[in-house]
Amino acid sequence: MFLVLLGLFFYVIASSTFTVLHRIYLSLHIVFMVWTLFQFVSQTTTSALYRLFYLSVSYTGLSLLGIGWFVFVVFLTGQSYVIRKSRLFLLATPALISVAVVIINPNGMFLRINEQLAPLKQLQHGPLYWIMITQLILYMIVSFTIMFYKLRGENSVRKRTLIKTASNGMLVLVIFSISDLIINVFIIEHFKQYIPLISVGMAFAAVYLVHAITHNKVLDIIQTVQRDVMNTMSMGIIVLDENDIIIEVNKVIKPMIRFRIGDKFNPVLLGSQFKTEVSREFAAFFEDQRMRPMERLEIEIALHYDNYRHVIVQSAPILNHKKTLVGRLLTFQDVTELRLLVEETNNQNELLQDRNRDLLIMQDELFQANKKLENMAITDGLTGCFNRRYLLHQLEQEVVTNIRYGIPFSIFLFDLDHFKSINDNYGHLVGDEVLCSTVDAVRGSLRFTDILARYGGEEFTVYLPHTNRDHAAQIAERLKEAVEQNQVNTGLGEQTISVTISMGVISIEHFEPSDLADPKAFLRELLAEADAALYEAKYSGRNRIVKRKLA
Ligand code: GH3
Ligand code: MG
Ligand code: MG
Repeated sequence: MFLVLLGLFFYVIASSTFTVLHRIYLSLHIVFMVWTLFQFVSQTTTSALYRLFYLSVSYTGLSLLGIGWFVFVVFLTGQSYVIRKSRLFLLATPALISVAVVIINPNGMFLRINEQLAPLKQLQHGPLYWIMITQLILYMIVSFTIMFYKLRGENSVRKRTLIKTASNGMLVLVIFSISDLIINVFIIEHFKQYIPLISVGMAFAAVYLVHAITHNKVLDIIQTVQRDVMNTMSMGIIVLDENDIIIEVNKVIKPMIRFRIGDKFNPVLLGSQFKTEVSREFAAFFEDQRMRPMERLEIEIALHYDNYRHVIVQSAPILNHKKTLVGRLLTFQDVTELRLLVEETNNQNELLQDRNRDLLIMQDELFQANKKLENMAITDGLTGCFNRRYLLHQLEQEVVTNIRYGIPFSIFLFDLDHFKSINDNYGHLVGDEVLCSTVDAVRGSLRFTDILARYGGEEFTVYLPHTNRDHAAQIAERLKEAVEQNQVNTGLGEQTISVTISMGVISIEHFEPSDLADPKAFLRELLAEADAALYEAKYSGRNRIVKRKLA
């Protein structure tokens, strides 16, 4: 039995990942081994002294069985916080007392060998022996109670398996121990020799536990952690082997699919729980995956449960170290929130773009309005030519430039003759019409660069840049004629009227540097001169041009 236990001991060490639980189990295993070994050794000697010694060692081991099992159960049920270092001593006190009793064995009150008696009756258990038995029973009862309560409140299948395994092992041991006690202590006289029932029980329990550990991988912490991680993920996971048999499914995906571990993965069945369109998408995806098994494929599908969910389905090959396909990992990730967020962002973006467009339109309108205002500020509302303000502003600048560079220029000032009588005879509206029509006629005989402005009432000014006296005279004559020949409709049948103008013309060809000292005063002087020329033209009979040359 000892050899069996020893073999198992090394097997457990070699085959498992080491955890605290492993170490506790192995300590328990050592207890089993010590007991069986020294029980066996005690049979090999006839010396009462040696036999007592070997038996004491074996009972020392047995004394620790209760506390060992208790600690094992506490760790197994995930209550290791109960056993803090300070408390461990307290919890182990009964076991330690028992060990002390076994070792000291005062006056043979624990165990005595009476060689006078028949061989099977030589072993005599004193009152202290029952202290050991009692502490063992106590630990076992507490362990059972813990397991019982834990089992009732435990939902995890894995933990339930663990607890059941431990309690089954313990039950085996208890049954064998009670049998041992009855047979080897109470009714030994009916047998020819000691029957090592506890040893057998320990071996059974150990074999059972080791089998359970291997089979259920109960102590394989890595696998446990992996499963826990898989189950706490928000992503659905299906693991398939190379024959498309489902070997693992996590908690998220379980309610979504009708498969169980061990079933063959059936894409048609998976798709059939959704609308035809979705099932077709699924079918196409898995067909694609079948054609390209070594590639990682991805598809986004809108599934309809209680509402629409956007799910990204990924299929990735699982390769072994030789890079051959051993299975496939299917993941299902719900990206609905993400999609909603993207949609919302897009909507906001569109809204912003709309607003931007409106703003641009408004900006354009404002620009146009501004332009209109600017135009209005510099033009005359009735005739459309420039107004007096604009002309003066322009002239102020032009005159400075002209003086500085010695550029000749001319200014006309003309006034419609007897205009008042037109108003009087035909009305104000016809008067207006005459004004506009005259402006049009004047424009036609001017150059593009000349500036025509309404100076006030029926009086107009023309600024002619780069124009000397002779040239100005030609233009003035042309202009006068154009006005004279211009026929304005009166609105009374075919009747038209024509007007004449009187004009003062001044041309500046030479400049004094002193003119630059006060350009405004110089301009004022120029305009006064033009006015004087106009006055002269009126005075001397109208419909004529009076030219003056300044400087
Ligand atoms: P003269 O040959 O001396 O210039 O005689 P006139 O009648 O043209 O001169 P006067 O200054 O006596 O009269 C000018 C008239 O022009 C007076 C005014 O009512 C008229 N007038 C000024 N502005 C406008 C206008 O915008 N529209 C119209 N219809 N008449 C205007
Ligand atoms: Mg007039
Ligand atoms: Mg006038």
